[in-house]
Amino acid sequence: MPPSPVDLREPVLAWFDAHARDLPWRAPDRTPWGVLVSEVMLQQTPVARVEPAWRAWMLRWPTPADLAEAPTGDVLRAWDRLGYPRRALRLQECARTVVDRHGGVVPSTEPDLLALPGVGSYTAAAVLAFAFGRRSVVLDTNVRRVLARTVQAQALPHPTQTAAEVRLAAGYVPDDDAEAARWAAASMELGALVCTARAPRCRGCPVVGVCAWYAAGRPADELAGRRRTQRFVGTDRQVRGRVMALLREAIAPVPAAALDAVWPDTHQLSRCVDSLLADGLIARDAPVSDDDPPTFRLPA
Ligand code: SF4
Repeated sequence: MPPSPVDLREPVLAWFDAHARDLPWRAPDRTPWGVLVSEVMLQQTPVARVEPAWRAWMLRWPTPADLAEAPTGDVLRAWDRLGYPRRALRLQECARTVVDRHGGVVPSTEPDLLALPGVGSYTAAAVLAFAFGRRSVVLDTNVRRVLARTVQAQALPHPTQTAAEVRLAAGYVPDDDAEAARWAAASMELGALVCTARAPRCRGCPVVGVCAWYAAGRPADELAGRRRTQRFVGTDRQVRGRVMALLREAIAPVPAAALDAVWPDTHQLSRCVDSLLADGLIARDAPVSDDDPPTFRLPA
């Protein structure tokens, strides 16, 4: 039997009150912009790496207007090693859109949030809950895993989120706005700290008494052989990361020959440089004379 919403929520909320991490984007003086920045940074990067980057970022560009006016090269340098730097470009586009369409104020409705560059359904729901204290269905990988286990007795959620899963999650969200926002934060935190993907700490878990997966004897993941594991070494992502690192740290435009030194496979390197140029993450300057090579830099 899956737990009722109340039976699942109450222990998780009580546990959250005692164990929630003291994160800066949860502080009482947080701003909607600070929450939005944190959600974009956290999309593919762990909290431990995001926290110092977020603090430095918010000191430098505390409002959408500040980020909108910043040189893009500075934005990409400040993004540093958070990975997937297209997110930095999208965040700056988002800041410019907030300034142009909303007078520099982060909008507080789902349609307006979803219309911002780089804001998808998860980020919009998270900003509604964590910045504005509104009821929304916040379904990140942590919440999906907690619900898959406690409610559906599955080791891990399906790789692709379905409408049925969103409906199921919505059934566990309290009706009250403030309670719903607390539930969103608490269920995410349980997934991040206790009900982790690889080593869930069931013995110390506040819902071990109602968890369907635990009651079923923690059956193995049915899709184990079919899940894609993300390789990094040797991928275009690694090559793009090396090129970005070289240009982030360079104090002057980098000649093509120096770029050649970052990766031995010239064909793969050339493909990655072309994709970075197409994404607007790097810029190429034409040679001054036929004898000079082109140079590369971060965009202005
Ligand atoms: S009992 Fe184990 S599997 Fe169930 S929610 Fe807690 S940590 Fe996760």
